[in-house]
Amino acid sequence: MEVIQSFTIDHTHLKPGIYVSREDKGFTTFDLRITEPNKEPAVAPAAMHSMEHLMATWFRNSRVKQDVVYVGPMGCLTGMYIIMTGTYRVEDMRQLTLECLEWMTAQTAVPATTPQTCGNHLLHDLPMCLWECRRYMNRLQNDFHSEYTKLQITLDDGKCFADA
Ligand SMILES: [Zn+2]
Repeated sequence: MEVIQSFTIDHTHLKPGIYVSREDKGFTTFDLRITEPNKEPAVAPAAMHSMEHLMATWFRNSRVKQDVVYVGPMGCLTGMYIIMTGTYRVEDMRQLTLECLEWMTAQTAVPATTPQTCGNHLLHDLPMCLWECRRYMNRLQNDFHSEYTKLQITLDDGKCFADA
């Protein structure tokens, strides 16, 4: 088994920001890194779930909606993935995400939280979600990071994945 690309990123040097984690087949995967992995508490599951509903709602109604392929949370709960088609760069995503966060922080309810529209409709926490959004917005404006530190991983066969 080959080490998959995202596991070659040194998560101990990853600051909150926006990163390009993959570019393939015309799709770009952006990592919206919200908390500092393994150093700060990850986003609580209920807050992350609300963030997914709100962020997906904004992106899928925005002026770039035709290019939005996927919006969803990272399993480690330290950020969100957004997959786009087209030629979007980190700075484009920073501006879009700031607009999105501005809208999110003005919301008083999470969309689609009935048993009919959500697979775990009780797992929501809007106040905590909005706290995370405000902190992330501040970071995107004042302490922005977008450059990965690559981790040197060498497998048994000597193959190196430092340059994934
Ligand atoms: Zn849901």
